[in-house]
Amino acid sequence: MRPARALIDLGALRHNYRLAKAAGGGKTLAVIKADAYGHGAVRCAQALQNEADGFAVACIEEALELRQAGIEAPILLLEGFFDKDELPLIDRHGFWCMVHDPWQVEALERAALTRPLKVWLKQDSGMHRLGLSAQACMAAWQRLRQVPDIEPMVLASHFARADELDCVRTREQAEAFAQLSAQIPLPTSLSNSPALLGWPDIRGDWSRAGLMLYGATPFPAAHPQADRLRPVMTLESQIIAVRELPSGEPIGYGGRFVTRKSSRIGVVALGYADGYPQFAPDDTPVALAGKPGHLIGRVSMDMLTVDLTDHPYAGIGTPVQLWGDQVAVSSVAARSGISVYPLLCGLKRAPRIYIDSQA
Ligand SMILES: *Cc1c(COP(=O)(O)O)cnc(C)c1O
Repeated sequence: MRPARALIDLGALRHNYRLAKAAGGGKTLAVIKADAYGHGAVRCAQALQNEADGFAVACIEEALELRQAGIEAPILLLEGFFDKDELPLIDRHGFWCMVHDPWQVEALERAALTRPLKVWLKQDSGMHRLGLSAQACMAAWQRLRQVPDIEPMVLASHFARADELDCVRTREQAEAFAQLSAQIPLPTSLSNSPALLGWPDIRGDWSRAGLMLYGATPFPAAHPQADRLRPVMTLESQIIAVRELPSGEPIGYGGRFVTRKSSRIGVVALGYADGYPQFAPDDTPVALAGKPGHLIGRVSMDMLTVDLTDHPYAGIGTPVQLWGDQVAVSSVAARSGISVYPLLCGLKRAPRIYIDSQA
């Protein structure tokens, strides 16, 4: 069997959820959209269901998958509904709904509901992606609170740059939100992972933790809070072939790397079709049987190559960790010039194997 696999440690996931909840102080939704950032939404929800205050997903398709798997906890649709035709299903399953646009307010006013529908009102406090202006938010609240089966529940907003710890925009967004929240007597929700970890004085009643649940840091440098997270995913494979080459020999597609001395090269069964970045540069870190090593040459679809010259113990069958507890996924992302979010979400083909370090 091909040795490429992603171990998913559900014990580490629970550990990270507890850190998020302690950091936020109030209630915390576990954000498990995009198949839990590549970790498997159903398994992650099952692992958290006894402690999470609820879950958040991007769309009703993701929410239904969780309900069909027996998850009964509250589920917030972060973008609400895309079409009013979703309202009967939202009603039937009791999903919570973000409201970010006046057309959704109108649709809710006209909806035929069988029970109270809880809505979160979203203010655009400065990110300018989704959300109502302060004025439109006020108007939406005035209207929706008069609709018998609609229950405005939380006032929310989202940060654009909370991962930049010296960026004044986060403070400005929090102030714009505080101004509106002084006029709308609802519980509040502001913080995503970078805000929970890096902006301890900005808090609300409900946090929305995504990335940090999976043990990855949103920050480019070491950070005392982020460093307490435990990585949930370990992407690993094995060496399946070894080459001994003299100096001056190119390796792999495009001959990007050329040996500068007589070298030992290991071929690892894992490539970009598994979600590893195709353009990870030479010297991107890997761990060879637990020891620090590095990649050389361009990553192929099914394989990549590592330098074994200084690792005489390594040979066919040696385990190679691409990211996990020995290689921070954020360092692989940074070396490759991409964000850690798409790197985790992009896991493909390599089967997920679930373990539980605390069970
Ligand atoms: C994805 C998302 C989150 C979670 O963000 P992280 O940075 O992964 O913690 C929170 N709120 C909203 C609205 C989101 O879309």
